[in-house]
Amino acid sequence: MTQYNRRQFIKQGSQATLAAGVGMSILPNIASAEIVNTYAQQPLPYAYNALEPYIDATTMDIHYNKHAAAYAKNLAEACAAENVNTQTVSLDNLMQSIGKYSAKMRNNGGGHFNHEFFWKCMKPGSTGGPNGKLLTAIQQSFGSVDGFKTKFADAAKSRFGSGWAWLVQTPNGQLVCGSTPNQDNPLMDISELKGKPLLGLDVWEHAYYLKYQNKRPDYITNWFNLVDWNFVATQFVS
Ligand code: MN
Repeated sequence: MTQYNRRQFIKQGSQATLAAGVGMSILPNIASAEIVNTYAQQPLPYAYNALEPYIDATTMDIHYNKHAAAYAKNLAEACAAENVNTQTVSLDNLMQSIGKYSAKMRNNGGGHFNHEFFWKCMKPGSTGGPNGKLLTAIQQSFGSVDGFKTKFADAAKSRFGSGWAWLVQTPNGQLVCGSTPNQDNPLMDISELKGKPLLGLDVWEHAYYLKYQNKRPDYITNWFNLVDWNFVATQFVS
């Protein structure tokens, strides 16, 4: 181990062990390990009506208390049935080995992770846009912030059926937009799109149908007003 790698290893702690094991420089040393890494559903960080007029209070209430709560509950059941020790196996690490578990674990583990992440991707009131190193990376990858929004929106619009759109940082450090089906996410070993999630958008109909009905593109366009760019910056590894 070189001096540099040794320093990195110490800095990154035990997560680096697995990163080295799977040959990825960014995964899974991810900031979200500290931010979104609990099996219990966390309190919504704002009121149900705080995201209006872009997302209505009823949608948020049902989304958080029914859909997301069910994923957390069913994940707990799957962990008990499949002997996952939630005290020692981090949620991130569960995602990275999800292929060896049941469909129930995959659907609800992904569902729980994705929703906990999603709530944090949004914030009432504008946070402006990306800045600093994140802005530079977005400009390098997509030409401009508008170029990024177009790519992200395309990924969200073209996901057939239920799923998620993502901005991810790939293991080689590139930023890419893509989508995953159902409740899969880019941390999962079985996912086609792989990387560290920086931003995620729920495009299941339950996330928007009460207000937008079939108009998913309108939901996506409006949703950009809610993005918490400070949160995205905390997920970005510069
Ligand atoms: Mn949802």
